[in-house]
Formats: sequence, C-alpha cells, structure tokens
Amino acid sequence: MKLSARVNQVSPSLTLAIAAKAKAMQAKGIDVCSFSAGEPDFPTPKHICEAAKTALDEGKTRYGAAVGELRLREAIANKLKKDNNLNYEADNIIVTNGGKFSLFNLMQVLIEPGDEVIIPAPYWLSYPEMVKLAGGTPVIVETSAENDYKITIEQLEQAITPNTKLFVFNSPSNPTGTVYAPNEVKALAKIIVERDILVVSDEIYEKILYDDAQHLSIGSIDEEIFKRTITSSGFAKSHSMTGWRVGYAAAPMEILKAMAKIQGHSTSNVCTFAQYGAIAALESSQECVQEMVQAFAQRRSYMHAAVNTISGLSCPKPYGAFYLFVDISKTGKKSLDFCNQLLETKQMAAIPGVAFGMDDCIRFSYATDMDTIKEGIKRLTEFVDS
Ligand SMILES: *Cc1c(COP(=O)(O)O)cnc(C)c1O
Repeated sequence: MKLSARVNQVSPSLTLAIAAKAKAMQAKGIDVCSFSAGEPDFPTPKHICEAAKTALDEGKTRYGAAVGELRLREAIANKLKKDNNLNYEADNIIVTNGGKFSLFNLMQVLIEPGDEVIIPAPYWLSYPEMVKLAGGTPVIVETSAENDYKITIEQLEQAITPNTKLFVFNSPSNPTGTVYAPNEVKALAKIIVERDILVVSDEIYEKILYDDAQHLSIGSIDEEIFKRTITSSGFAKSHSMTGWRVGYAAAPMEILKAMAKIQGHSTSNVCTFAQYGAIAALESSQECVQEMVQAFAQRRSYMHAAVNTISGLSCPKPYGAFYLFVDISKTGKKSLDFCNQLLETKQMAAIPGVAFGMDDCIRFSYATDMDTIKEGIKRLTEFVDS
C-alpha cells in the first residue's frame, strides 16, 4: 500500500517507544523506575471530577459549539485577563482537544509550502512534525546549556528570512524547564514586531514555576506584539487533567475564525462534560495547583542536586515545568543508546534527547514520588559508574 508523502515524512514518537518498552517490562513484573512520564502523577482534583459528573447527570452529553462552551470560553478570557494581562474576549478563544490540537490546528491555518517556522532546540517533539504536516519547513535553532537553553536575540534575528512566518515560543519549556525572564521575553517580542512575524506562545506550564521565576505572557507586552501573538495553553499540566483533552488557543479574530473552520471539519467540540470540569478548574480555588507545585519543587531541588553530583552528568537548574534535561556528552554515549542501556541494565526509563533535537542529552521527568526518585538516583549512579 502506498501511504501519503505527508505522513511518510513524520517521525514516530520516541517518547512513546521507550514508554511502551518500560510498560511491557512492568507488565512482566519487572520493577521499573520510570522518569519518562510527560504528565503530573497526581489525580485530577476531586472538585473538578465532581463538576464533570454533575454535567453528565445534567445531560451535558450532546454536541456543542465546535469552538467550545461559551461559559468555558468566558472563564478562559477572564483568566487570561486576570493572570496574564491578555485582553482577549470570549470570541477570541477556541477550546481544543488538548493544547496539542490547538497547536496542530494553528499550523493548519497559518502554514503552507515555502513557509518557515523557527523552533528553538531542544523543543517539544511535536512542533516540527506539526509544521511538516502543514507542508511548512521547521527551522531548528540550537541553544546551549551555557545559555540555559534559551534562544538569543542574535540567533532569532539570524534565523529570520523573508519566508519566516512563525516563531514557536515555549516558556516554561518542555524538555528543559527553562523559564525566560520578563526582560528576555520583551527583547524577543521587539524582534518579532520589527521583523513582522507571528509568534505562538505555548504557555501550558505557566503555573509550574520555582523559586522567584516569573512568567510573562509575550502577548501582554504591547498592542503591536499582541496582534502578532497566538497564545496556546490547557488544563493538562496545571490541573493534572492530561486525559481530559481540554486545551485552548486565544488569537486575533481572523486566525480564530480560520481555526474554527478546521475544528468544525475535524474534531468538532471537545467532550462536552469534560469542558464543565475545566470550568470548575478555573472558577474554584487554585490551591490544588499550588499543592502540586510544592511537591514538584521538593523533588526538583533534590533531583537537580543529586544528578549534578554524578560525575559525567550535568544539568542547569530548571525554573519551571517538571523535567531535568541532563547533558550526558562526557559519558561518550548518544542519547538513544544511553536510554536503552539504562532501561535494560538498570530498569530505569528516561527519554533520549534526540527526540527533542539534542542527542547529547536525556530528559528525566520528576513527576513521580520521592521514593522512586531516590531509587532512580541510585540506579543512575551505578549505571554511569560502570
Ligand atoms: C503537554 C504539553 C502540551 C499539551 O498537552 P495536552 O495534553 O494536549 O494539553 C503542549 N505543549 C507542551 C510543551 C507540552 O509539554
């Protein structure tokens, strides 16, 4: 059978391959220490589940507007005004099947053959594939550990060509945990406005911050950058709702209407009662978010310090999200070999950096309990020492 050229250029997900192998080992009764999860290890807060159950009982089980329930879009617009200083109306919001589909949909409405999309590496592994599926060209700009994996102003300027359509900005970052400081976000915004390109700001980890790290939404800086910004986010990471599949994009009207067309012919509305869970997530106390962040903060301090004591390994301190991005270049191994051997010999799962565009590194998620983290550090030390 001949499959489309479109799908043939897309790489399979390495994250899923390692996770599947770890799961298969667990199913055989092997004690695997897993640091591969890209999701919080907490259950969804009870009040959110209760709100979805009530919605089910009330018969919120039918088709809804493709762009999402009005009440949820209003709640999101309020949140963006209050938390992010972003002046979107409910009409500027589309509720999507996770933050992932908001980004996929956006690429469909903006990108065509010949268009270039600038993506700093290491990157979330779906960005380049989404660009390719839209027929565009990902332009990967490699950042360095010395610069905390941040793209510099010079790098961004040099990457922009007459074909550049969009810059993909993700702070706090998956896989590095890097958080751009407000003055750095402003400097990037200045270039985006000067060179008249668009930016999509993936803010899915905005609530997961440590120490005195601050999140600044790039679209909030001034009117000029606001016009060129699409803000993408969701409930998966902040409220531990990965399986619910509720995300959103906020965008200028012209883009929003185009995304609504794509959604109307693809996913249609997000599961109706799941949207009522998301309304409760926004309209109730945010204490549950803070509790999760506090737990992550403890694990992050412990794990960052412990990994840096292992000779041959190093990583910058993450200020957001729940990942450590560890440089393994001194071990002389490439990331896929490192991860495969670590899983086979020490039953410890991590994600090879090659999946994120950086083969000298691996990603550990600390969205797991302290006992697993302590045991993992032991196994990792033994592995590197041997
Ligand atoms: C998890 C994640 C998303 C979106 O996840 P959904 O489950 O689709 O909401 C988007 N961007 C990054 C960087 C992520 O890690």
